[in-house]
Amino acid sequence: MIFEGLADRLQETFKKLRGHGKLTEDDVNEAMREVRMALLEADVNFKVVKDFVKRVKERAIGQDVMEALTPAQLVIKIVNEELTELMGGSQSRINMSPNPPTIIMMVGLQGAGKTTSAGKLGLSLKKQGKRPVLVAADIYRPAAVTQLQVIGKQLDIPVFSMEPGTDAVTIAKSSLNYAFTHANDVVIIDTAGRLHINEELMQELKDIKGQVKPHEILLVVDAMTGQDAVNVAESFNKDLGLDGLVLTKLDGDSRGGAALSVKAVTGCPVKFVGMGEKLEALEPFYPDRMASRILGMGDVLSLIEKAQATFDEAQAKEMEKKFRKDDFTLDDFLAQMQQIKKLGSLENIMSLIPGMGDIKKKLGDREIDLNGKEMRQVEAIIRSMTPKERANTSIINGSRRKRIAAGSGTRVQDVNRLLKQFEEMRKMMKKVKKMQGGRKGFGGFK
Ligand code: GDP
Repeated sequence: MIFEGLADRLQETFKKLRGHGKLTEDDVNEAMREVRMALLEADVNFKVVKDFVKRVKERAIGQDVMEALTPAQLVIKIVNEELTELMGGSQSRINMSPNPPTIIMMVGLQGAGKTTSAGKLGLSLKKQGKRPVLVAADIYRPAAVTQLQVIGKQLDIPVFSMEPGTDAVTIAKSSLNYAFTHANDVVIIDTAGRLHINEELMQELKDIKGQVKPHEILLVVDAMTGQDAVNVAESFNKDLGLDGLVLTKLDGDSRGGAALSVKAVTGCPVKFVGMGEKLEALEPFYPDRMASRILGMGDVLSLIEKAQATFDEAQAKEMEKKFRKDDFTLDDFLAQMQQIKKLGSLENIMSLIPGMGDIKKKLGDREIDLNGKEMRQVEAIIRSMTPKERANTSIINGSRRKRIAAGSGTRVQDVNRLLKQFEEMRKMMKKVKKMQGGRKGFGGFK
């Protein structure tokens, strides 16, 4: 897991701090000493750590943390804010040109994941409705052009390449004509890498930059190389000028030093992170969510997005089938409920949101409990029905209703209410189906 070591150390430190109730200046100093050690162990740049700890201390003491009602909470809040700031504050996006095509130049050393990331970025833009083209301008690594072609084929994204022997600048320039004639609104140029930074490489990249005038130069660096990645970013930024970084292999980076220091050292924001070898494994970089993750405050937004993604694709497709055949049954209804439960209880989810504890108290336990109880009741009622009844609710007459109520420990009214709700739901589904007419798909999925 990313930041595993750091997350463990920081959470341990703050747990101790929480146990103190009122804090003395010594307590804060001691905690900050531990934070400093934890960051250094995570391979965060030495100077970055020094500045970070200094800022947190200043703020903590300036804000009268010692006088606060929940001093430990306030220290954590400050650390969270400063970590977010360290990683760039808010999310940095790609500069999309108002006059397409937007030209993106991918640069980086060999093996950093440049070609893979070019493909991943293409996929992510395609999903947003763009029409990207990938440009094979890495003419030195023998397999690079073929690799990009394979990726393009897999993703159904066109790849522009030229005869062997053509120089990279000509390829890059010609790709723009291709984009114009094929109505591609984003051009992603995969440039050559080297094992080390050298003059020849930089000159070629500068030449391409001068000729195609990219809107965005993205440097791809391997997070697992820690401070080396930061140094590479510094050199590229000095020589070429960068708009942003793609930090790859974060899935295997348990320390996180590069992710935490690169913005502070180079001034370049991380725009994307690579989270695996699969072409879907590219995520926008959100400093605030990352900071919360490190501090064990959960990352609810990402959780919700992930949940939505899992539900949508597989579930909606399956449901669509049932729905088209008009055989959505109480069993399916139950299956959907189980899916929702997989996300965890409402209480669990709420506890992931900082500050939600207070709101929960105000709401009162009753309301939340009722929710859980209602869910359990519905489940019990459906489970007390025979398979035949679940498949065809119209056979559930008065005596069956009585039996089901008794079996599920509920009242006949409860059974009636559930059946009525289910009928309404089916009616609504039929309406949607009619509205969709001959159109394929449900919920936006083909
Ligand atoms: P290039 O030389 O910079 O073009 O590097 P490649 O795109 O060929 O990638 C080098 C290796 O790193 C390949 O085996 C990729 O599958 C792998 N790779 C790239 N990005 C990631 C990532 O985010 N996570 C992991 N685990 N592997 C990655």
